[in-house]
Amino acid sequence: MNDVTKILTRRRRVFADNALLFYDDPVYFTHAEGVWMYDANDTPYLDAYNNTASVGHCNVEVVDAITRQASRLNSHTRYLYDAVFDYAEELLMEFPDDLSKITFTCTGSEANELAMRIAKESTGGDGFIVVGNAYHGCSNATADISPYDSDGIVTAPNVRALQPPNSYLLSNAEIERNFTDGLRQCIQDLEDNGHKFAAFIIDTTLEANGIFSVPTTYLSKTQEIIREAGGLFIADEVQGGFGRMGDTMWSFERHDVTPDLITVGKPMANGLPMGAVIGTANVINQFFRKHRYFNTFGGNAVCAAAGLATLRVIQRERLLDNSRSVGKYLFDKCSKLMEKHEVIGHVRGAGLFVGIEIVEDRDSKKPAPVIATTVMNNLRHHNVLTGLAGQFDNVLKIRPPLIFDKANADQFSDILNLVLSLDLKPIVPRT
Ligand code: PMP
Repeated sequence: MNDVTKILTRRRRVFADNALLFYDDPVYFTHAEGVWMYDANDTPYLDAYNNTASVGHCNVEVVDAITRQASRLNSHTRYLYDAVFDYAEELLMEFPDDLSKITFTCTGSEANELAMRIAKESTGGDGFIVVGNAYHGCSNATADISPYDSDGIVTAPNVRALQPPNSYLLSNAEIERNFTDGLRQCIQDLEDNGHKFAAFIIDTTLEANGIFSVPTTYLSKTQEIIREAGGLFIADEVQGGFGRMGDTMWSFERHDVTPDLITVGKPMANGLPMGAVIGTANVINQFFRKHRYFNTFGGNAVCAAAGLATLRVIQRERLLDNSRSVGKYLFDKCSKLMEKHEVIGHVRGAGLFVGIEIVEDRDSKKPAPVIATTVMNNLRHHNVLTGLAGQFDNVLKIRPPLIFDKANADQFSDILNLVLSLDLKPIVPRT
């Protein structure tokens, strides 16, 4: 038995039969550095997928910060220690002034779950509105606001979903209309069914939808409607935060909106579990007056040290600029491949977040999930890591660490070009 077969056997014994796993031929990694992940034979794989290692796998500065803090003190926020305030102060400087309070969690799901609780307390409502097919987390309440988790279907009685702003199929005017009219209808429908409107939550990268490029005006009208109805605007920055979208630190800043609550996670501590909710003093204080919220590991000293080191690397290495310039370069290279490859229906995104919609042909625009899966698997066989997104899992998701450079973008697009030139018949999965 080779190493991969052995570890797959161990996995099958202890994990659920259908626990998610990447690729027809799963990869067994032993170490990683920068934008490269390595298997047991020291074969490098170009990481064009993992946003958690945002300043690079095993970044020396972050590893040092973790090691130093772990060997001195690791504790929770009911005691006083510097690490968490050193981080909180620097992080809050990245947000609009009136968003001055932060509560730490361990994951994006926990951050969104807490934001929901805060919104309920602040508005007295329990009705939530999301974008169709969105993903906001794996906990009980966040699964209810994540239609992606259940094949696009919303079942919770207090949740409504707007039609996704599909920039491939709809015009900007249609998108704006769907959002504004849809929002009014959803608020009314919630209220008619006894659920006062509490909040609208959106991941403005629209990642789960396949990273749509949408007009920057559509959300300001949305926010007006939310305010009029007495609800909160929650920006889920778990995907789009910390410079992913290039032009701005936070994805929502590309739109003319001021969220009431912002949630962050994933890339925050370069791979350590950390999330947070950021909001105005009024809204956050009101919740804490009523509830004894405490999260044992949220804001622990080691994760806080990792978070601070990650933030400082982003700032010092000007990774926002890198995300913008290398992202644009990568986007142009991927777009150029459309001239040769008919299966690329649409290339979209911002910063280092690019979606390539794979279709049967450009006239029908019909999603081609089998071809997309084959492309992703073939990329893996050529040692490039990507994933899939979108309602039909037909959008190739390219979301590398923020230190991805132009040479990496060339490597990526050369291999994508090669893979798209191959026979795109599905590969038989390893059993
Ligand atoms: N929100 C968004 C937009 C996400 O993409 C994710 C994770 N994919 C989450 C929330 C949940 O984060 P976590 O997996 O850390 O709980």
